[in-house]
Amino acid sequence: MQKPLIYLDHSASTPADPRVVEAMLPYFTEIYGNPSSMHRFAQQSEKAVEQARRTVADILGCQPKEIVFTGCGSESDNLAIRGAVAQSRAKPPHLITSRLEHAAVANTAQQMQDFYGCEVTFLPSDPEGSISVAMLRESLQDNTTLVSLMLANNEIGTILPIPNLAEAAHERGALFHTDAVQAGGQLPLNVHDLNVDMLSLSAHKFYGPKGVGVLYVREGVVLVPSQSGGSHEEGRRAGTLNVPLIVGLAKALEIAEANRESYTTEFSRLRDRLIDGILERVPDSQLTGSRTHRLPSHASFVFKNVDGNLLLMHLDLQGIAASSGSACKTGNPKPSDVLLALGYDENWALGGLRLSVGRQTTDEHINTVLEVLPKEIEKVRSLVAMK
Ligand code: PLP
Repeated sequence: MQKPLIYLDHSASTPADPRVVEAMLPYFTEIYGNPSSMHRFAQQSEKAVEQARRTVADILGCQPKEIVFTGCGSESDNLAIRGAVAQSRAKPPHLITSRLEHAAVANTAQQMQDFYGCEVTFLPSDPEGSISVAMLRESLQDNTTLVSLMLANNEIGTILPIPNLAEAAHERGALFHTDAVQAGGQLPLNVHDLNVDMLSLSAHKFYGPKGVGVLYVREGVVLVPSQSGGSHEEGRRAGTLNVPLIVGLAKALEIAEANRESYTTEFSRLRDRLIDGILERVPDSQLTGSRTHRLPSHASFVFKNVDGNLLLMHLDLQGIAASSGSACKTGNPKPSDVLLALGYDENWALGGLRLSVGRQTTDEHINTVLEVLPKEIEKVRSLVAMK
């Protein structure tokens, strides 16, 4: 008999909600006008985009004109960083981020340093992956243009104290961007409470379609577009608007926000079963990230003397889909930069595992993982010992 498949990689991507797909469908075949054109086909498309913009703006607590639709979370991060650095009058501009950011921020910051003469500070974190306001304060300079720190970490699930970090940045006149891609649908996203000037989201992390994102840009913040061309999105992102995906993003965010309390209460319960069960059953295992300030859906671990990629293959054969860190790192035999930055040595850092629950996860799924995982870890450890 075939084993049931258990998907525990919701931090990498979620299935599109059928209600989202249904909302999108007419915009492929029936309402297909280019929203920038003048005729009635266009007006219908434009109406749908502007309705979607209002829905997203209401959830973020901002004005519709402060919402820029993009092609993904990575693009939103790029636009925030490249756009803010390019318009800066500081010579040279200074950018602050951390060693724990997603590659969309970390590699963009590195490029700003290597090719655009930008000064970049990569802040270290505490052992749980949090960034202290005091450390940020020490790094802020008169030429600091932008601070970019994520709301919730994709590899270790830790939630940062964004309102306080943003306050410190603002005191020195710097802009503050947060990558909220992992937080979408799980944490409150009110941009005023968060105190941010820019915020990135990606629909496929909250049961929307892949290939569409949002960048919130506070009114008054000027960005040089990283993609130039026509005057779409008030000149901030050129390209014909992807109407069906934008409609899908708004619908997905609306559903996620309306049910956030109940979804995340259940996520946290299942997550805690995983965390307690795994730490109890697997010797030489540690939780990575914070136990208390963590994403409801996210459980992450390191196991001593385990090849994380080999473990993923073993789990896949048992019908369990997981990840060793961010999806982009999967298949990469190097230890995770984030785990190394947290101070784990190679014996531990190679053995990372991320299990992220979702709306379809059940107690039976968790029971199976708790039964299967310790055995598979034993097998992988014995293979390493034989080498
Ligand atoms: N930022 C974070 C924290 C992420 O986890 C991801 C995706 O895993 C991204 C950015 C990139 O988003 P996208 O896949 O939409 O480009």
